[in-house]
Amino acid sequence: MNNLIIATRNAHKVVEIQAILGSNFHCLTLDRLTGVPDVVEDADTFVGNAVKKARELREWLLENQPERGLEISHVLADDSGLEVDALNGAPGVHSARFAALDGDLLKNSSSAENNAKLLRMLAEVPSPQRTARFRCVIAMASTDGEQPLIETFEGVCEGRIDTKPGGAGGFGYDPLFIPLGHDKSFAELGETVKNGLSHRSKALAAVKMRFALQ
Ligand code: IMP
Repeated sequence: MNNLIIATRNAHKVVEIQAILGSNFHCLTLDRLTGVPDVVEDADTFVGNAVKKARELREWLLENQPERGLEISHVLADDSGLEVDALNGAPGVHSARFAALDGDLLKNSSSAENNAKLLRMLAEVPSPQRTARFRCVIAMASTDGEQPLIETFEGVCEGRIDTKPGGAGGFGYDPLFIPLGHDKSFAELGETVKNGLSHRSKALAAVKMRFALQ
């Protein structure tokens, strides 16, 4: 059994991650720990942010909760976002605070604000040029000195941005993102279909393969 701490406060993500990893992995959330400091996600790549989150939480855990640290095999941190070709890869690492970039740099914006800004910026872009992808990098930081300290895993899901939001499921940009080979958004397709083809599920499949025998 692999005991993991998931370094996110996004409840949707925790549910997705536990569903995809399955019962060989026992996922604890940050809510089970008190006093965890927030990590500033200021790297300019997904890898940089995922590694920073995993490393800082691992260090905090071993220093502040050494007994808990012994039960935990890895800290799992992910960083993910949307890359839109017509916007030269934006919003990218700024996906969570895309609308807020126009004002306060460090504040996240609501999904509705981010989606509205994306639609505004793509208003004149015709369908064939609305290609985009979700990218996810997962960093696994080991609490066991015998294991490599940090390993990273990447997953990508290609698709395109619709001209209007569709569906009520999922989170973030899900109502606007139509994965390749489909004609409905992630929000319309629902959790089971999304988990079969998402960027996060591909990165997690690589994590599962790597740690399958532990
Ligand atoms: P982070 O990895 O928590 O920093 O997420 C960055 C942002 O990317 C999220 O707040 C969402 O706006 C967006 N994002 C990442 N993954 C997804 C997804 O699966 N669906 C929709 N939006 C996502």
